[in-house]
Amino acid sequence: MKILRTQTLRGPNYWSIRREKLIVMRLDLENLANRPSNEIPGFYEGLVEALPSLVEHFCSPGYRGGFLERVQKGTYMGHIIEHVALELQELAGTPVGFGRTRETATPGVYNVVFEYADEQAGRYAGRAAVRMCQSIVDTGTYPKAELEQDLADLRDLCANASLGPSTETIVKEAEARNIPWLLLSARAMVQLGYGVHQKRIQATLSSMSGILAVELACDKEGTKTILKDAGIPVPRGTVIQYLDELDDAIEEVGGFPIVVKPLDGNHGRGITIDVNSRPEAEEAYDLASAASKTRSVIVERFYRGSDHRVLVINGKVAAVAERIPAHVVGDGRSTIEELIEITNQDPNRGEGHANVLTKITIDKTALNVLMRQGYDLGTVLPEGAIAYLRATANLSTGGIAVDRTDEIHPENVWICQRVAKLIGLDIAGIDVVTPDIRKPLREVDGVIVEVNAAPGFRMHVAPSRGLPRNIAAPVIDMLFPEGTPNRVPIIALTGTNGKTTTSRLTAHIYRQTGKVVGFTTTDGIYIDEYLVEKGDNTGPYSASVILKDPTVEIAVLETARGGILRSGLAFNQCDVGVVLNVAADHLGIGDIDTIEQMAKVKSVVAEVVSQKGYAVLNADDPLVVGMVPQVKGKIAYFSMNPDNPIIKDHVRRGGMAAVYENGYLSILEGEWTLRVEEAVNIPVTMGGMAPFMIANALAACLATFVQGVDIEVIRQGVRTFKPSAAQTPGRMNLFNLGHHHALIDYAHNPAGYEAVGGFVRNWKGEKVGVVGGPGDRRDDDLILLGKLSAGMFDRIIVKEDNDTRGRARGEVADLILKGINEENSSLHPEVILDETEALEKALATVSEGGLVVIFPESVGQSIALIKKYQPVSEEEG
Ligand code: ATP
Ligand code: ATP
Ligand code: MG
Ligand code: MG
Repeated sequence: MKILRTQTLRGPNYWSIRREKLIVMRLDLENLANRPSNEIPGFYEGLVEALPSLVEHFCSPGYRGGFLERVQKGTYMGHIIEHVALELQELAGTPVGFGRTRETATPGVYNVVFEYADEQAGRYAGRAAVRMCQSIVDTGTYPKAELEQDLADLRDLCANASLGPSTETIVKEAEARNIPWLLLSARAMVQLGYGVHQKRIQATLSSMSGILAVELACDKEGTKTILKDAGIPVPRGTVIQYLDELDDAIEEVGGFPIVVKPLDGNHGRGITIDVNSRPEAEEAYDLASAASKTRSVIVERFYRGSDHRVLVINGKVAAVAERIPAHVVGDGRSTIEELIEITNQDPNRGEGHANVLTKITIDKTALNVLMRQGYDLGTVLPEGAIAYLRATANLSTGGIAVDRTDEIHPENVWICQRVAKLIGLDIAGIDVVTPDIRKPLREVDGVIVEVNAAPGFRMHVAPSRGLPRNIAAPVIDMLFPEGTPNRVPIIALTGTNGKTTTSRLTAHIYRQTGKVVGFTTTDGIYIDEYLVEKGDNTGPYSASVILKDPTVEIAVLETARGGILRSGLAFNQCDVGVVLNVAADHLGIGDIDTIEQMAKVKSVVAEVVSQKGYAVLNADDPLVVGMVPQVKGKIAYFSMNPDNPIIKDHVRRGGMAAVYENGYLSILEGEWTLRVEEAVNIPVTMGGMAPFMIANALAACLATFVQGVDIEVIRQGVRTFKPSAAQTPGRMNLFNLGHHHALIDYAHNPAGYEAVGGFVRNWKGEKVGVVGGPGDRRDDDLILLGKLSAGMFDRIIVKEDNDTRGRARGEVADLILKGINEENSSLHPEVILDETEALEKALATVSEGGLVVIFPESVGQSIALIKKYQPVSEEEG
């Protein structure tokens, strides 16, 4: 077997609209192509032995064991690999379920499609699945050690890619509310919402966290002073810089017991608490001083009680946790060292911040803390006795958390909410030391020790005991208060032909509303009227540039087939999805071999239209109309024919449509006809002579109308839209050369030629075509091009591209000639292989008022050539 290509999809795609995260592995089965699993001796047994949990896969039979049954009876290797790739991820702790396997047009080559949780892990699982199956085919087994290694690697990949527990909870809540999010490429920053409505978070800092507040919280002394001035109970304490100040400091805080800590520490480093003697105090001083960058040491009174974390979000207490330092509980038999080992076996304990809890480490601090309790690692603890391994309760040093949200005294709630306001933090973690959070701090001598910016959420979301709290909800409530938008309208446009033109026109109409429009097309990314990036920008990367932009109020996205196939859409929902047409083009690329498959690719855009949104569909194209059953949103049709039965039926039922009637572009709404404008007044329709441009304009009018844009505004838009050759080179560029006209169009498929033909046939004077085609098209396509040309021109000069794309010189011309003569043997076409020569000949011989049309190899060269003739004007197109 050989993996030919691996693609990672990240949005709605050809295989699934809902399953956005898919790996598509193009797999050549090679010598296994004609060997179903039942014909490979020992394969079934080897597979069951390696992965017994595959019994859980139902597969098509629909019951437990269904998949294995199919392996036993005989199924193809691609299908087995799909299931193995899924199961490996499942065993690594990331459950996934969706898979599809389809043979391509090349016999023995399959597309194996399966879901992933983390994309690197997904790709790894695909490779590992191939390795495993190949090994079972060759040797009958897959070594256990190999599997263990695969699973360990998968777990590592997932852990490394994880966002961190706090970010994860916020993102999950956003997803639950259908708020889109994207990871920005720097600083683990997450964007929630799109465009102008976006907010950001970084761990639990939000775009609403003020810099003054965060800085103040990081300054422990400053914080304490501000709080003390406001009458909040804080530890009595003082800061010293030299050892000889220690005695005065101890006296100042009221004598022992005391706490000694670095002024600028965190995570409990350098802290000694419950210090009761002078020698101990000196040792603690050295420790703290060494841990401080500025050699500044805080001496504080020691307050009895346990550590509590009160989380205040947007002015309200959201959760309270009591935190207990890393400890073990005796059983009367085991030593402390053994107890630690037992405690660490808890699967909830991991390294660092990755898991719910963190493993307890035995280090110098732990030994010290034990010693102060009169223990060492060898001590056998009596049953029920507690030995602490840390003085402070950070989860990251092995502590645990107990939820106390329902127990906190109302007065303490009031105090903590005031504290958050005094510091100015939107999300504040307030450290409270008190013997009993159920009583007012003042009554039991409790104090506020510190206020943390960017507090961890782990202890509240997954406390060791008590109720887990959804604290992401108030964060999202704060960032997006009820009724405020989080998305900008997305208008996505697809189709074989006319995407760029229609996208530009749609964006232009929206700009008349005064909103900032971001749009992407084949020629670039634009925001407002400015170019952001030049080049073919019709994929998910370009779309995300628009959706990330904080000024964009409306997104208009040309959405081409290439991007959909390569990585799926950049958005999981749009407000308007326009499908212009589906014609034969790009077939045979990316395993899309038939026009029906191509329709399914483009249908993705219609299928992601939200329930309240509109799919704007071409009623004249049966493949587009065929998408309707999959659409969840509402439908609006456009048609060149007001009598199109689909349109008639649709409006009779109260639906919306746009049609070309009596020379007008009109919107039909129920029984009413709203005339937008007469085609002759719409430059992009070339005075009403280019029918396909009328169709494009109808789509643009409808796409804006369904979004509530005023008909006056739409009229203004279609009247003033004049794309130039400079803006859209090769797209119906018409030049008035005084004596005659010249048209340059980069039509590149039969539907495109037909479209241009629609315009040419409307031309009153002589029509001369300069016709050629790319050499990599099939013979039949070139013959068809000849036929189509014969149907539209009075006179034809056949030319060839410089680049013959593998054909002998003259071969393309012969095929085109063949087509012309089959269609009309009286035309007597001339053959001039050189493109420039051919065009010059046509321009020199066309009669007055005539039209020369060229389908050039190089648009730039042809435009330059025509510009030499000094056109009177460049007409719209
Ligand atoms: P972290 O980064 O975990 O917040 P830190 O290095 O910022 O720790 P503090 O928050 O000042 O240090 O103190 C850590 C812990 O030590 C407190 O949560 C509390 O349990 C204990 N502690 C600190 N000062 C006192 C005090 N004056 N009386 C009693 N306990 C104290
Ligand atoms: P691409 O796939 O190259 O990005 P596109 O879909 O963006 O193409 P446009 O750039 O708008 O299409 O138009 C390209 C050419 O396609 C036009 O010059 C014209 O020849 C033809 N065309 C445009 N609109 C239509 C249409 N509605 N039906 C058929 N052909 C069209
Ligand atoms: Mg602290
Ligand atoms: Mg385009």
